[in-house]
Amino acid sequence: MAYPKTQKLSLTAALGSARETRALEIGSDILGKTARVFGEYFPNATAVIVADTTTFAVAGKVVAEQLKQAGVASREPFLFTDPNVYAEYSYVEQLEAALKGHQAIPVAVGSGTINDLTKLAAFRTGRPYMCVATAASMDGYTAFGASITYQGSKQTFDCPAPVAVIADLEIIRRAPREMTASGYADLLAKVTAGADWLLADALGVEAIDPQAWNIVQGGLHEALSQPAALAAQDAEAMAGLTEGLMLGGFAMQWSKSSRPASGAEHQFSHLWDMQHHTHQGKAPSHGFKVGIATLAVTALYDWLLQQPIETLDVARGVAAWPGKAESEARVRTLFREEDFTAKAVEETHAKHVEKSQLQFQLERWRAHWPELREHLRAQLIAFADVKRMLAEVGAPVEPEQIGISRSRLRSAFGQAYHIRRRFTVLDLVVRAGLLESALDDLFGAKGPWPVSPGQV
Ligand SMILES: [Zn+2]
Repeated sequence: MAYPKTQKLSLTAALGSARETRALEIGSDILGKTARVFGEYFPNATAVIVADTTTFAVAGKVVAEQLKQAGVASREPFLFTDPNVYAEYSYVEQLEAALKGHQAIPVAVGSGTINDLTKLAAFRTGRPYMCVATAASMDGYTAFGASITYQGSKQTFDCPAPVAVIADLEIIRRAPREMTASGYADLLAKVTAGADWLLADALGVEAIDPQAWNIVQGGLHEALSQPAALAAQDAEAMAGLTEGLMLGGFAMQWSKSSRPASGAEHQFSHLWDMQHHTHQGKAPSHGFKVGIATLAVTALYDWLLQQPIETLDVARGVAAWPGKAESEARVRTLFREEDFTAKAVEETHAKHVEKSQLQFQLERWRAHWPELREHLRAQLIAFADVKRMLAEVGAPVEPEQIGISRSRLRSAFGQAYHIRRRFTVLDLVVRAGLLESALDDLFGAKGPWPVSPGQV
């Protein structure tokens, strides 16, 4: 079995793999480059800045002046003035209606919300766009697709990434600290996402693409190495974080899939989105949900690495494996109170395997475990370190901090498995019949989240 030999790619090489993004500028005090980049990729076009009142104040105003000075024709900026603007469909419609009145190229100035709204509205009006990032808060800038709430539920709409991105570190490092902490947690998630891909590759489910792997994993541990400096708004640490997040998007553009940047930890976050989870009146940030989930998945991996898989009872796992109808019945019971039962059934069916295939996978796992375990150890960061890193950057480290009780975190392991067809560590422990014993340990007296009897 061939494991990837991780190599760090230069930013230029990684950018060359992006299918939609042609330019990425990261540096301090570089807002002035916006006009040149705009002119290079959209010659003779008119620009229209899209921002909210905050992002216009911190960067949009300067960008508008720079465009004007450089002689780029510009329309009056489109500003979302609603202080509660979020990535919701009605805001896409507002922007789309405005864009339909002209042919100008949108320049999104902002972070996740503004970028996602502009990405979808630009696509729906048949034009490309560029982005000026104002925070290192998630990896969605350069991702294909926009994450938008539609009719009450969060969905990913297909639409191309921006043609160019400007990331001015002087703006980004002064963004609210919780935004940086969110982005850091979203980057930390690439550690468990990579481990999940190693598993999927080793079991013959989904081969690792070396280019996408290197784009994301090549500089990952280095980019994650300075959480305290990020909390102190250090520009160099911020450069590493920003670059890491942008690279995640490039890998997804290259693979046309979120696999390189998203594993089981993202499935927890998706689950909580689908359950419309809010804490203190609003949805916790993507990164904060993913951070808690990364801790959860790391705890599961730590547990798994201690198990004697060399002596796994394959026959027992195969005998207990449910058929398709039985599996569907279980999903319908598990999600009986949710409004996405049909989606869970669809995803569970999509990854259903027959007993013969399960036997093959479990035997392969057992045979390759000593070698696979070493690769997982090298890839993963231990639970205590993940927790410390999140704490140092200022991200939540206990599920209750994002409004998730321990018992709810426990049920999320079993539920997250069903809502996406992607093969992760959750699939492995479920297929081997180990999930309940793992959870008994994780939520037992010696685990990270002891739950006393009767506690909810
Ligand atoms: Zn993410």
